[in-house]
Amino acid sequence: MSSSSTENKHFEKALESPFEASKQLREILNKLSKDLTDFARDICVEHNIDPNVKIVPTLIHYLEHEVMTRYVRGLGIDIETIVKERIEKKKVYIHAWYDPERRTIFIYIDLPEDMFCTSLAHELIHHCQYTCHSEKCKNVCEYWLNIDEAREIDESIPYNLRPHEIEAYTKDEEFCRRIKENKRFNEVYKKYNDAFQEVKEIMASLILIYG
Ligand SMILES: [Zn+2]
Ligand SMILES: [Zn+2]
Repeated sequence: MSSSSTENKHFEKALESPFEASKQLREILNKLSKDLTDFARDICVEHNIDPNVKIVPTLIHYLEHEVMTRYVRGLGIDIETIVKERIEKKKVYIHAWYDPERRTIFIYIDLPEDMFCTSLAHELIHHCQYTCHSEKCKNVCEYWLNIDEAREIDESIPYNLRPHEIEAYTKDEEFCRRIKENKRFNEVYKKYNDAFQEVKEIMASLILIYG
């Protein structure tokens, strides 16, 4: 276990050139992706959700309500749903999004524990909506979707009125509590955080050299 010497290796290599840095960042993210994916698959098995899902940590700060556009204009945007309440009043955003075609969750790499957990929970609920189509998940989701249908919903209903969003925003905080009950949660969050510290050090030095 020489994780600090591995970190030094990433760090020193990264300073050689932006090209080297980009490859070292890829390595850090890939390794974390494997750890997060393993954990998410465990959670899926625990809750009878399809474990065929991948988690990709990213340096790009996605907010789901911005990625899934058409939030701002149209009929129904003023309706006070839990989605609107969370985004506009509580400002508790989902810092992730789910691509149902690739069954992949993209999650920002720099999040406090609660936001990390809620964002992961929210996207796993979406994954469940697309894949379970039965009651076996025991209420993780009850609204079922397929890709074509979701595309049509995204094109015709504003974000805060979409049924799968109302369900995910209603259930994500509770599902996060269940995720935290898994004994590997703290260990996984630590890996996520350690990877971010590594990325941050590399970024800080890159800015000094090339910024
Ligand atoms: Zn389900
Ligand atoms: Zn969502």
